Amino acid sequence: MARGVVEAGSLKRYDLYVDGTFQPPSQNARFESVNPYTEEPWATVADASVEDLDVAVDAALRALEGDWLTLGGAGRGKLMHRLADLVEQNLAHLAAIETSDNGKVRRDAEAQVALVAKWLRYFAGLADKIEGRVVSEPQAEYFVYTRREPVGVVGAILPWNAPLLLLAFKLAPALAAGCTMVVKPSEFTPASVLAFAQYVHKAGFPAGVFNVVSGSSRELGAALAAHPRVSRIAFTGSTQTGISVSKAASDHVGRVTLELGGKSPQIVFADADLEAAVNGVVAGVFAASGQMCHAGSRVLVEQSIHDAFVDALVRRAREARLGDPTDPLTDIGPISTEPQLRKIEELVSASARSGAKILCGGKVSPRSGYFFEPTVITNVQQHAQIVREEVFGPVVAVMPFDREDDAIEMANDTPYGLAAGLWTSNLNRAHRMVDRIKAGTVWVNCYRVASPAVPFGGMKTSGVGRENGLDAINDYLETKSVWMDVSGGKRDPYRISSSSSESSESTTTRESNPSRGDHLDE
Ligand code: NAD
Repeated sequence: MARGVVEAGSLKRYDLYVDGTFQPPSQNARFESVNPYTEEPWATVADASVEDLDVAVDAALRALEGDWLTLGGAGRGKLMHRLADLVEQNLAHLAAIETSDNGKVRRDAEAQVALVAKWLRYFAGLADKIEGRVVSEPQAEYFVYTRREPVGVVGAILPWNAPLLLLAFKLAPALAAGCTMVVKPSEFTPASVLAFAQYVHKAGFPAGVFNVVSGSSRELGAALAAHPRVSRIAFTGSTQTGISVSKAASDHVGRVTLELGGKSPQIVFADADLEAAVNGVVAGVFAASGQMCHAGSRVLVEQSIHDAFVDALVRRAREARLGDPTDPLTDIGPISTEPQLRKIEELVSASARSGAKILCGGKVSPRSGYFFEPTVITNVQQHAQIVREEVFGPVVAVMPFDREDDAIEMANDTPYGLAAGLWTSNLNRAHRMVDRIKAGTVWVNCYRVASPAVPFGGMKTSGVGRENGLDAINDYLETKSVWMDVSGGKRDPYRISSSSSESSESTTTRESNPSRGDHLDE
């Protein structure tokens, strides 16, 4: 039987990528990935065990010390640029896999793969700019400096909604920092990350630097989070799973960043450009079938324009073209997984039962594939489940507000704090609102824009830490402080000196009084 990535034939075959080779899992178990548009399995994927995960972690640990270390920042950056070239050259291939695995509309999938290359290039540029500093220690006997070192093996745990892009958020800074990685893709969408491994291999990364361990069991993610030899977990997924990840990693003092769920408000004032605002709301909740962590699924509209805004939004929902995600004219593809489709259906039905008005959509589409019709809901209260819980589908709840203060109160009345959209032409108001909104990202007169240069992450239960931006690389580095005694003298082991004046005196009297430094008293 052929091994590795086999894309000929009707059922594609993807094996694990561990220690620089594609290999079947130790127990030869496999699972199928279902295309949400055809509802048919389209790929068979290696189903790894916890033992396979151990092998991958050990390979990643070894790789930290090998050729990867000697490459240096410039060498790592060069490999990252080579990988970005390969991603760009094979954009259509990777996007097609993402579409088969996840149902992502092809033009969106292509745009996201292009972003993967952009992320790699941005962080490649930082790889040779990692610097410690010399600390101007007041005591002349010591030369003190800091070094920035890779944190170690990184475990990346991915969700199903944007596997490659969310991998790039983690992989690009991790590689630039000199870390190695074991990736656990979602059990629903493992194929694109395994296919991506081909290009990592082709780019010439040393064996063990990048490993992919796919599996059907959620236990595999749990084992990665708890793995004592994994120094850092970069997790994107639901808030509930993120809490388990954080607890598991804390048992071995593992570092964690969590990019979790959201219930992001889009706030539309009467003075906004309404066409642009409707467009932004559509982009925020109907694009990607609403399967975005930052979906703007609560729209707060100033009372005076509420009805006109809702009419326009309903019109746009009805015009949206659902269909084959490979068709360039399709706007909305299927929901990625059947359980997710059922979850959306249940949340919308429950809201109708509790008195909400479903103005359009509101049901599973009769066409084949896991489609949910774009849905606009009104007549809901702040405490309603549909207003509080993440739907992760093309479903938006619209609520009116009277005053700016009311909009802020409603916007912040959520356990989440990932993103918010603000639509107004009043600059003073925009600044006031930005100041008061509790969210990691506020888009003003725009929505769903991202860049490797701009930090992204959540407040409150939407997460811990930030991905992207110059500082993201720091999450993959540790600081080591180095003290060097350059005096050549010996010190009194029982004497603690604690003031700089005392210590500068000690410098001059070193021979007679060898006490030096503000000695650490534990
Ligand atoms: P999920 O939490 O169910 O699963 C995410 C990953 O965690 C999967 O790979 C899964 O196998 C793994 N996992 C499951 N149990 C685990 C455990 N106990 N320990 C460790 N790993 C475990 O999330 P999902 O359904 O795949 O993705 C949707 C969620 O992701 C939504 O809540 C969405 O908001 C969130 N999300 C957040 C962002 C962000 O950047 N903030 C981006 C995309 C998605």
